Amino acid sequence: MNETSAPRALIVGGSLGGLLAAITLRAIGWRVDVFERSPHALDSRGGGIVLQPDVLHAFHFAGLHHPGTLGVASGDRVFLDAGGEVVQRGWQPQTQTSWNMLYGAMRAMLPDACLHPGQVLERFEQAGGQVRAHFAGGRVETGDLLVGADGARSTVRSQLLPQVAPAYAGYVAWRGLVPETRLDGADRALLDGVFAFQQGEDHQLLEYLVPGEDGATAPGRRRWNWVWYRKVAEQHLPALLRGRDGRSRPFSLPPGQLPDARAAALRADADALLAPVFARLVGLTEEPFVQLIQDLAVPRMVFGRVVLVGDAAFVPRPHTAGSTAKAAANALALAQALARSDVPVEQRLRDWEVLQLRAGTTMTRWGMQIGARIMGLDRAAPPHTKG
Ligand SMILES: Cc1cc2nc3c(=O)[nH]c(=O)nc-3n(C[C@H](O)[C@H](O)[C@H](O)COP(=O)(O)OP(=O)(O)OC[C@H]3O[C@@H](n4cnc5c(N)ncnc54)[C@H](O)[C@@H]3O)c2cc1C
Repeated sequence: MNETSAPRALIVGGSLGGLLAAITLRAIGWRVDVFERSPHALDSRGGGIVLQPDVLHAFHFAGLHHPGTLGVASGDRVFLDAGGEVVQRGWQPQTQTSWNMLYGAMRAMLPDACLHPGQVLERFEQAGGQVRAHFAGGRVETGDLLVGADGARSTVRSQLLPQVAPAYAGYVAWRGLVPETRLDGADRALLDGVFAFQQGEDHQLLEYLVPGEDGATAPGRRRWNWVWYRKVAEQHLPALLRGRDGRSRPFSLPPGQLPDARAAALRADADALLAPVFARLVGLTEEPFVQLIQDLAVPRMVFGRVVLVGDAAFVPRPHTAGSTAKAAANALALAQALARSDVPVEQRLRDWEVLQLRAGTTMTRWGMQIGARIMGLDRAAPPHTKG
């Protein structure tokens, strides 16, 4: 198979799910092109991510051997009470990384020519084993497969399954990152090397160290990553998500957009509700940001030569720490299925779908159960659809 006779995948979405698909499909000899809506480099979406084996398996399959360490290890899980006392401690080792660390590692192995920023998919059609994708501005591309890696509000999915949309889970995640050295010695001694929690009444904060913005994992150059889950009634969401620019966003308020008065209110709440070390972390955060917690699950992932992966297909709650792992598992299994030559492509895709659907459904339901328990919400209904 030479370079031009190789099958071609059009990948819509250039975040983690899209790049995972790109590196694994390239590893089986496919040509890949990644079309990303954002015209800018996606290198500052930062938040912490628990590094799961599925990501490492996909990297290994793709031949991505990162020269350094990909994350920061933690050993114990500790729970603090509101007074700051450790009330529970247990050995549960894991590694924490960050969005920009994973993104940067994958981006570095993809040729620039594969990546097409500023391209907004509008629609597609398929015929004769080919997919034609239409982008804003009139660009049209044809491929053997279209991978919808365009996230929870996927355009690809909305064309295929217009009745399926994310549903608000009843609470939000406030998040922030603080340079390691901003905490003083006693606080650092308490939190270094552990994955720390505070379980409050209907709220939960968790915290762990992640690499620095430059990917550094050496002590002193890392960042404290915190996530604070808090209930917010649905009618208050437009105000919550209104930024400094006066615009209310649908699902999140990015770093830098939280108005000063609301940042002050967040810090006051932290002082009132959180263990002192966590309240100090929230207070030291320059640009706190907030994301809605949502549920989404699709009934199908394969539609002829179009597939859905990552958050476009399932949005498990972050308590599973598994969304990126799921995107990696989707991508790796897709490449392995397409590498087979014993059955037609359509059959390989259907076989791929069976296991991915089962895994996504299981993870999504599990996340809802955890969320209901930690937030005191009795929400056992299956993943939601609108209409
Ligand atoms: C509070 C919180 C904590 C989390 N913690 C973890 C964790 O610990 N571990 C973990 O694994 N995951 C975590 N996640 C989830 C994780 O960030 C995502 O699951 C992961 O990045 C995979 O996302 P994705 O690439 O499928 O979608 P996204 O990251 O949403 O990317 C979709 C991309 O598609 C682009 N796009 C959208 N529409 C179009 C279009 N029409 N044309 C072209 N491009 C388009 C977007 O610009 C975007 O870049 C967390 C999420 C939240 C909210």
